[in-house]
Amino acid sequence: MRGDRDVLVIHDERMLAHNPAASDPYLPGRLDRRVREILAGLAVQWNYPEHPGRLAAITTLLDQEPVPGTRFQSARPASREELGRVHTATHLRDVNKLRGQHAWLDVDTTAISPGSLEAAEVAAGAAILAVEAVVTGRSQHAFALCRPPGHHAETARARGFCLFNNVAVAAAHAQAELGCERVLIVDWDAHHGNGTQDIFWASPDVLFFDTHRASPFYPGSGDLEEIGAGLGEGTTVNVPLPAGAGDQAVIKAFEEILVPAADWFRPDLILVSAGFDPHRLDLCLNMSYDGLAALTGIVQRLADQHCQGRLALVLEGGYHLESLARGVHSVLGVLAGGEAPEPAEPGIDEVAAATAFHLNAFKAL
Ligand SMILES: [Zn+2]
Repeated sequence: MRGDRDVLVIHDERMLAHNPAASDPYLPGRLDRRVREILAGLAVQWNYPEHPGRLAAITTLLDQEPVPGTRFQSARPASREELGRVHTATHLRDVNKLRGQHAWLDVDTTAISPGSLEAAEVAAGAAILAVEAVVTGRSQHAFALCRPPGHHAETARARGFCLFNNVAVAAAHAQAELGCERVLIVDWDAHHGNGTQDIFWASPDVLFFDTHRASPFYPGSGDLEEIGAGLGEGTTVNVPLPAGAGDQAVIKAFEEILVPAADWFRPDLILVSAGFDPHRLDLCLNMSYDGLAALTGIVQRLADQHCQGRLALVLEGGYHLESLARGVHSVLGVLAGGEAPEPAEPGIDEVAAATAFHLNAFKAL
């Protein structure tokens, strides 16, 4: 029943202070020139899509239509040591030098504004708090509303709107401080989680499972053959999908690949890189709210089965404000104990009703 599970939602106003705008003056340099050239060549004016309005859209909807069973908490910033478990010292030093400034960090339009470093530290801290809550049993499940997102950030590189890899920082924290031995990371964002894959590429104790739109879609990685290497060979699982793939395809991938992989791996913690750009309004894949809710039901079932329900979600992408907010709401409804729906192909019920309505007209008198 909705509300019979306790879900901690982590939200912190400091994450709103990350607010790069293409029109701001950036640190002059080769990267700035290249980004300006790219933006000038676009047919339409470009605005930074990963903006504070994303979180505001989510919290406004959750205020208007509260999900019974959820409660809110703010986060603390992640420390240099916690970030340093998955990022190189040089990456942390170089990014930190830009604190308080406007700067481009990558040609794929990753940028920072004066509040960004603290926002990114709080985002990683929110992911840490989410795992602490579920591992210590303070809440059954948790959802960290993180921004900037994290799954494109690699060990030594900020990319794709991501500065620090929040879900990876959380997984490493669970292993270093909370006694977790095997962490399953499920990434259902429409883009491949190249950063998370990079960080745990050779790690046998983190199973990374990722459904995404296939390359050459951004970031251009996540092919079937990318399975990890060394000690981690076999603990990276990619399921690349075509643009039109929707609920049935992604659910099939979860049921037929993720479920046996989890049974084999026996995780003691499950994390989800929860992006909302697979929703059809975001134009990357073709999922519905019911589809996202169904995925939540599957990972919740796996968490109940393998690790006493320890399940923490970390927000990644999702740029259409309506589907982002509604998507988070649907997912929280299932986390809090609501029924996980079985999504139907859109229009089938309507066609059945139309058939009943029209069919008599064609019967011989
Ligand atoms: Zn994405």
